[in-house]
Amino acid sequence: MNQENKEKSLDFIRARVKEEQEAGKNEGKVHTRFPPEPNGYLHLGHAKSICLNFGIASEFGGLCNLRLDDTNPVAEKIEYAEAIKEDVKWLGFNWDDRLCHASDYFDQLFDWAIQLIKSGKAYVCDLDFGEMKKLRGTLVTPGQPSPFRDRSVEENINLFLKMQNGEFPDGTKTLRAKIDMTSPNMNMRDPVIYRIIHKEHPKTADKWKIYPSYDYAHGQSDSIEGITHSLCTLEFEQHRPLYDWFCENLKIHHPQQIEFARLNLTYVVMSKRKMLRLVEEGYVEGWNDPRMPTIQGMRRRGFTPQAILEFCDRVGLAKRENTIEVELLEHCLRQDLNKRAQRRLGVMNPLKLTIENYPENKREEIDAVNNPEDESAGTRKVPFSGKLFIDSSDFMEAPPKKYFRLAPGKEVRLKYAYYVRCKDFIKNDKGNIIEVICTYDPESKGGNTEDGRKVKGTIQWVESETAIPTKVRLYDRLFSLPYPEDTEEGKDFIENINPNSLQVLDTCLTESNLNKIETEIPFQLERIGYFCKDRDSLLQDKLILNRTVALRDSWVKVNKS
Ligand code: ATP
Ligand code: MG
Repeated sequence: MNQENKEKSLDFIRARVKEEQEAGKNEGKVHTRFPPEPNGYLHLGHAKSICLNFGIASEFGGLCNLRLDDTNPVAEKIEYAEAIKEDVKWLGFNWDDRLCHASDYFDQLFDWAIQLIKSGKAYVCDLDFGEMKKLRGTLVTPGQPSPFRDRSVEENINLFLKMQNGEFPDGTKTLRAKIDMTSPNMNMRDPVIYRIIHKEHPKTADKWKIYPSYDYAHGQSDSIEGITHSLCTLEFEQHRPLYDWFCENLKIHHPQQIEFARLNLTYVVMSKRKMLRLVEEGYVEGWNDPRMPTIQGMRRRGFTPQAILEFCDRVGLAKRENTIEVELLEHCLRQDLNKRAQRRLGVMNPLKLTIENYPENKREEIDAVNNPEDESAGTRKVPFSGKLFIDSSDFMEAPPKKYFRLAPGKEVRLKYAYYVRCKDFIKNDKGNIIEVICTYDPESKGGNTEDGRKVKGTIQWVESETAIPTKVRLYDRLFSLPYPEDTEEGKDFIENINPNSLQVLDTCLTESNLNKIETEIPFQLERIGYFCKDRDSLLQDKLILNRTVALRDSWVKVNKS
């Protein structure tokens, strides 16, 4: 059976949510959240998490919050928070009035920290991070208790208040949960709950000198929001006992954490930290560089939200780490664009074509179909005259057998227009072909003749006077290797960057109708690929196209079962 038609069964998370809902857990309510930290732009992996969280909420009659996990003002920026909101919306999801911030809960989190101290379950520790690490032990050796572990409740409260008062410099004290230094799970060896950071926060200004750790803030934010299912990636599996410990010891609503495998994709890196390096070290033009797997990069490249959603759906959910081939992503994109994208004509390497017998000053408008896959897209008029350009690859002076495009004496169809036959060609001093001379058959308008004779080749063209000078950016994979992060000792992923990931063609020509095309709305240049207008067109006052994806699909061929 073709993979496309396989009946879909519920993934393990949906199966579990369904079962719990049917059993009446949480009174049958389902409430999820998508909790990005605003310390970078969202990437395709986040899209998967967005689809999962918003998807489950809508399928089970529940709600999904967008929560900005803004607990570390050192790495976070308003710019990132704004982009996150824009991206979630662009993907088509809606959090209504449920935009939340972990920082909204700082007061509550602080009160709960006091509660933990009072019940002897948290203490202030004076070890710095290096000393703490030494005493933490390893996977095979137990940890040692901190010398500050047995401070009295009173002393702990006193010191904790002073931490918040700004009386100690960064890194000199932490608040730690008092759990078990010998636990086989390193996360349970007295993890840090609060650290001192003298830095203003975009939402809470200078109110706080201490900020909660991820583990502490995250689960408690879930609890406050009444989340029922806290879906996260596998690396948090070992944090789940701690997640549970906080809820149990604070005696608060206890969401269920469930882990799934993160999405990895070949030929890219998909971690904010690594993408930040690409941006900061200038290997790409920014977070929204069309080669980046960020939502903003993909959008600028010409991806549609539908293609991304379809991809996330096709990838499904796994319990083990895996890497998806980028070809599947491109396949989903092509399938969507084939249905959606309007067709236009353009040539990458223009070669002049003159029609000898076409009346000197005559001009016509040719009807062209906008999308053969979608009749409702209608037709458009494309200017035509005796002076055209074709792609230089569509003419050969001495063609091999089975070359069905233009060659001396050969006839082809100009797409939507007429049959033309090559009479002659002109070379310059260097021996390069600079012009092809043809005659046309006036009876073949629309691409058919009265005598019914057939030609095998159809080529695209543009009219010389009206064609738009166009700059085209051809993107290739950002990395030369499918697993750029798998490097030898001492090397790093940067060395695997593909030096030819961007090729710019400066002398392309496209049909005049592209004057009206909107930025980032992909279309097909017939026989070439899918493209979209880049926002730089406005800045440079020239039509600039990004190639979204080429036409050929290698994924279906390889993976048809
Ligand atoms: P990165 O590793 O890229 O920095 P992150 O996990 O630190 O990502 P967060 O802002 O904490 O980024 O992520 C928000 C949500 O998106 C989390 O629930 C996280 O589990 C999920 N997520 C992040 N990366 C992926 C991925 N590659 N596949 C699926 N879900 C992901
Ligand atoms: Mg993270």
